[in-house]
Amino acid sequence: MVGLVVVSHSRALARAAVDLAMEMVRDRPVPIGVAAGLDETTFGTDATAITEAVAAADRGDGVVVLMDLGSAVLSAELALELLADDLRERVVLCPAPLVEGLVAAVVAAAGGAGRDEVAAEAIAGLAGKQSQLGPAPTPAAPAAGAADGNGDRPSATVTVTNRHGLHARPAARLVTLARSFDARVEVRNAGTGSPWVPAASLSRVATLGVLPGQRLEIRAAGPQARQAVEQLAALAGRAFDETEDAQPAPEKAADGGLPASPGIAIGPAWHPSTEPPRVPDVPALGPAPEWSRIDDALAAVRRDLDRLRAATARAAGPAAAAIFEAHLLLLDDADLLAEVRTRIDAGETAPRAWSAATARIAAEFEALADPYLKARAADVRAVADQTLRVLLDAPGAVAAGCGVLIAADLTPAEAAGLDPERVAGVLLAFGSPAAHSAILLRTRGIPAVAGAGPAVLDVPTGTPIGLDGSTGEVLVAPSEPVLAALRDRAAEQATRRARAAGRSAAPAVTSDGVTVAVAANVGSPGDARAAAAHGADLVGLIRTEFLFLDRDAAPEVDEQEAALREIAAALDGRRITVRTLDVGGDKPVRYLPAPAEENPFLGVRGIRYALRHPGLLADQLLAVVRVARDVPVSLMFPMVSTVEEVRVARRMLDAAVARAGGATPAGLQVGIMVEVPAAALKTAAFAPCVDFFSIGTNDLTQYALAAERGNAALASLADGLDPGVLRLIDAVCRGAGDRSVAVCGELAGDELAVPLLTGLGVRELSVAPPGIPAVKEAVRATTTTGAAALARAARDLPDAAAVRALLAAERVG
Ligand code: PEP
Ligand code: MG
Repeated sequence: MVGLVVVSHSRALARAAVDLAMEMVRDRPVPIGVAAGLDETTFGTDATAITEAVAAADRGDGVVVLMDLGSAVLSAELALELLADDLRERVVLCPAPLVEGLVAAVVAAAGGAGRDEVAAEAIAGLAGKQSQLGPAPTPAAPAAGAADGNGDRPSATVTVTNRHGLHARPAARLVTLARSFDARVEVRNAGTGSPWVPAASLSRVATLGVLPGQRLEIRAAGPQARQAVEQLAALAGRAFDETEDAQPAPEKAADGGLPASPGIAIGPAWHPSTEPPRVPDVPALGPAPEWSRIDDALAAVRRDLDRLRAATARAAGPAAAAIFEAHLLLLDDADLLAEVRTRIDAGETAPRAWSAATARIAAEFEALADPYLKARAADVRAVADQTLRVLLDAPGAVAAGCGVLIAADLTPAEAAGLDPERVAGVLLAFGSPAAHSAILLRTRGIPAVAGAGPAVLDVPTGTPIGLDGSTGEVLVAPSEPVLAALRDRAAEQATRRARAAGRSAAPAVTSDGVTVAVAANVGSPGDARAAAAHGADLVGLIRTEFLFLDRDAAPEVDEQEAALREIAAALDGRRITVRTLDVGGDKPVRYLPAPAEENPFLGVRGIRYALRHPGLLADQLLAVVRVARDVPVSLMFPMVSTVEEVRVARRMLDAAVARAGGATPAGLQVGIMVEVPAAALKTAAFAPCVDFFSIGTNDLTQYALAAERGNAALASLADGLDPGVLRLIDAVCRGAGDRSVAVCGELAGDELAVPLLTGLGVRELSVAPPGIPAVKEAVRATTTTGAAALARAARDLPDAAAVRALLAAERVG
């Protein structure tokens, strides 16, 4: 019987094709060898594996080899050369389509056909489909410019199958791969007969305007030319690794996203990159200094894009983050940089040269006929604008607009820089409600929806947008009646808020007389003033990272002390709770490079980081001790896992007291944040070493449910109302004995959760300042006995959804 061999880039694909074909001939098994993939999951082809598969399939009657595309053909040809002469005589490489050809070949071979007949049947495998569907469209005419042929250079022609053709993201992949070879690779659009362009230039490749179904020609010269062409063809065969999901769908507006910061926002859409700064007309400093300005600006933008790419990849996966790869490649674009240099050498300033060169590339995109590729001019402008702002030391683009800000994601620094007077709301394509940028938006009272999907990035500037940050609802260009209904809802919310604000300065006492302190989480002196204005009983969490991030060196003790005093002054004698530095994880410190970690959330962060940087911690403790002499201060350590960590930290505190001179300040209390599930379960062991516990439900939830807090895909899983998390909170309240228990994670600000937390025994809720009045109202509506019964019931429910349903029913009842 004739044997068959399937050569494919994908092992899974080959196996599935074989299974499908064998279904046709169940009772007459045909010998089929498979040479596919480099391993179970890595795409690729290997000539040696093909020779082995051929030998295994050979029964003496000949072997027909079927291949998928690109390097599969090249590898099969190479394999043929490697075979012993007698076996090679019996093998034929068959140009049939893989799936149809294999099915036809299996049937023919099982029926006893000879080798050439099997191959002919395979080639005719498309006949059925062709007769049913009619003739295929006439292929595009041969590329003009074919005269400058490929000579002996390895070359390939591939059909681009991506939904939007070779747009920025697939082009970025192509450019990245092309650059990795020691070869000069060129590509052209065979469909339009475009000239050849260097594959290492994103701007040149993307502006080829290769549409879906058009053919892309690849050629290369140099030592690794063959590998380059093979691998680029294989990449194109895999649709440039762009999954169907990741391929943007500009026709889609927005279905809404995740509630990230409560409140209703209505306003015109604006995108950060719409208002480029003006380039001043000043004389150039000369080529060398102007070029070094470009170098510095590119390095700074690269850092920012890297951070955004990593955050987006964490939140929404690598496909979504690929757009930032395209942006990064543009910063290295040889074509662009050559033009910038020429202009600088001719006497232009760095900003002028940069804006002229990038404008030229953006204009090239805009001139393309395809609307999707045309719209990619926005990507070029975004990067161009970002770099120009750095060159001109102009304020960040996100701080400059007015209305509903639409962005891919925000860094914490960007969220902190938004002006609540101008920004009605924020709509993020990616991001997650538990990310620090979302926390900052809540702190600043800016309504926000996160994870609304990349389509929102294509909403034109000025389009009316309505969003509800409590539900995640997003309305793009709503009709007047819909808008009116949203306005009514906003008005109702405003009335409720005004009522709560009128009573916010009074303590929050349950209807049966138990006081629950409602505190504020703050990340700056400005937040502290907002906390006081919203009626905070104390500050329950100062995220001291604000003093350390986005700068080039750690703050001196005096600067730290001054900032803490400013916060304390805003609270006018009320207690402040200072959390020691909680960096690491998703909060890296630029000037303290930490080793790359596979899993930073499980890495050196919180107290682990501080104990490894004792100089930093010692300075911070000294600042705290100095302030604690004059105001009541609670000091707490984040991410504690063991009692020993607390002992070491307390010894360092004792050293700070000694360094400050004098005794331990009378009002200084020491506590830990409970964020690690093991620590929650060991609360009683910690109790003798601390005065209080503060539960960080953001981290406790991510660790308890193994669901990363910034990952939009897991946002519904990472719900602090999961009964597993509630049991951990319960364990802390029971293990704490006479030590007080606070919650300072975002769960504390969820009005629905207030009776539950009160029922579990929590007596301090620390929330974003704008949330204080509503949380106080929720406490006042609670009875502790009823709340305790509610907590018992909730603990036994199966999941967070059931707990939410119980709490909602309780509120209505
Ligand atoms: C928490 O983890 O709940 C917390 C308050 O700390 P952060 O959000 O700053 O990590
Ligand atoms: Mg935390």
